[in-house]
Amino acid sequence: MPVDQRTSEQLLAARADNIPRGILTAHPIVIDRAEGGYLWDKAGRRYLDFVGGIGVINVGHNHPRVVAAVQEQLKRVTHTAFQVAAYEPYIALAERLNKLVGKGAPYKSVFLTTGAEAVENAVKIARGYTNRPGIISFRGGFHGRTLLGVTLTGFAQPYKQNFGPFAGEIYHTAYPDSYRGVSSQDAIAALEEVFATEIAPDRVAAIIIEPVQGDGGFLEAPVAFMKALREITQRHGIVLIADEIQTGFGRTGKLFGFEHSGIQPDLVTVAKSLAGGFPISGVVGKAEIMDAPTPGGLGGTYGGNAVACAAALAVLDAFEQDGLVERAGVLGGKLSAALDALKAKHPDIGVVRGLGFMRALEFVTDAETKAPDADRAHQIMERARERGLLVIKCGVHRNIVRFLAPIVISDADLDEAMHILGEVLAGTEAAKAA
Ligand code: PLP
Repeated sequence: MPVDQRTSEQLLAARADNIPRGILTAHPIVIDRAEGGYLWDKAGRRYLDFVGGIGVINVGHNHPRVVAAVQEQLKRVTHTAFQVAAYEPYIALAERLNKLVGKGAPYKSVFLTTGAEAVENAVKIARGYTNRPGIISFRGGFHGRTLLGVTLTGFAQPYKQNFGPFAGEIYHTAYPDSYRGVSSQDAIAALEEVFATEIAPDRVAAIIIEPVQGDGGFLEAPVAFMKALREITQRHGIVLIADEIQTGFGRTGKLFGFEHSGIQPDLVTVAKSLAGGFPISGVVGKAEIMDAPTPGGLGGTYGGNAVACAAALAVLDAFEQDGLVERAGVLGGKLSAALDALKAKHPDIGVVRGLGFMRALEFVTDAETKAPDADRAHQIMERARERGLLVIKCGVHRNIVRFLAPIVISDADLDEAMHILGEVLAGTEAAKAA
């Protein structure tokens, strides 16, 4: 196929004419190729990719092991629909994830295509198992764009606006946020209030939580909160779902975010970085719960596609053989120190958020009132791109700049990114003051 000879500007104009505005593209660039932690646009300009396809490219772009596994799988079989005929990579991936999550206990996995689909299926499985209707999720949580996904999602704009009526029997409660004065105890009290005023605990099928909220702003659930949540859910026979779609696969310095608190969730949703860019998601959970839906109750034509399963197996190999979980811990320590140093110089950084190599800067107009400063976050994102560093925003007020760089970047890449960020922060502050 001939390469499209149009420039980025021409392609972006065609994009505006042919693609609805509802699908936002954060950066007005057109990418031509990628490798490791870098992207190159059509004009040959190199960017440090600190977005990683929104937490997908943890093993780096075009990891040689992933490329080889995909090429090999393409020659064998790409698709049969697992409901029709089984294939080896699906089974091998289930075995591997069951061990990684279940640590020897009887676990089972089902594979789907997108994160939202994994969340939908986790909810179905929990309802099927408990025969209860209610699902509790957290304000500021993000669980996808399907109707159930946006219903579970805990922010209004732009995800929910004009898309209702929403799925039934979903209740939201407070997520801990020490920076804004919501302690673990406060969040537990808020949950008890939901039980008292909205839905009794014996009608709740599941509570779904991101161990670190992703799109909601890299808020981290304290260990005490995760432990209390595990105790409460156990006491009431509620299924605890850890949504590890963004925190998963090394991002927080452990393979899964829930491991920081030492608790064991009942179901875990995975997607994003599982297959290094190939679309696959899954629900990994206790066998007894996973087996609740009757035959035919789970699935989807493309769910657990053979090529994506092969890519996922190669990603897990890369994690093991390249020591990426440990590397995420090291990079996370360096990133957090660099961001702390920037915070010390710039009072408009209210707090450095996150865990491991999943970090973010929250911008505020005033350190005392902590009023969110979305404009400043946007300005930083724009100026950073102009200097060759790609980042995106998050947070319910979109005042947080998040960093999700591939875990394979070098120390020099990290230093370069922090240098750019430092100059952008200083340069734009000076411009503001002028
Ligand atoms: N859950 C979490 C925690 C996510 O971060 C996301 C996506 O950002 C989703 C679910 C939805 O995943 P997808 O966009 O693949 O449907």
